[in-house]
Amino acid sequence: MINGSCCCGAIKFELINPPSMMGTCHCSRCRKVGASTLVFVKKDDFRWIQGQEFVARYEPEAPYKHSRTFCKQCGTSLGEAGSQQDSFPISANCLDADPLVRNTFHVFVASKPAWYEICDSAKQFQEYPPNG
Ligand SMILES: [Zn+2]
Ligand SMILES: [Zn+2]
Repeated sequence: MINGSCCCGAIKFELINPPSMMGTCHCSRCRKVGASTLVFVKKDDFRWIQGQEFVARYEPEAPYKHSRTFCKQCGTSLGEAGSQQDSFPISANCLDADPLVRNTFHVFVASKPAWYEICDSAKQFQEYPPNG
């Protein structure tokens, strides 16, 4: 079991199984909400423990399509926590334990800020990965 929570502790959730993968998105939108490194979890592996009433959802206007959830009280980014998709990304920042996966890709490297240095050997894509 891998637990996650927001900064103020109002929201807690757990992952019944480790995430399938970890990746980092360097686009400006993920950067601004502080959720660049994401882990991908299966819907059935994700369970709220408390504080679902503190979860706010931001639905962007087209062409952007990724909704973003965060804590109403402290602003912690939760990724797409609680999505109805079969698998969805949650922010690695809000995990309280080792998710047992490591970063395997970087996307939107073309948008990466100058101050961020990629220090792993994971695959890099200028925008989206091909066929993805
Ligand atoms: Zn909070
Ligand atoms: Zn992004």
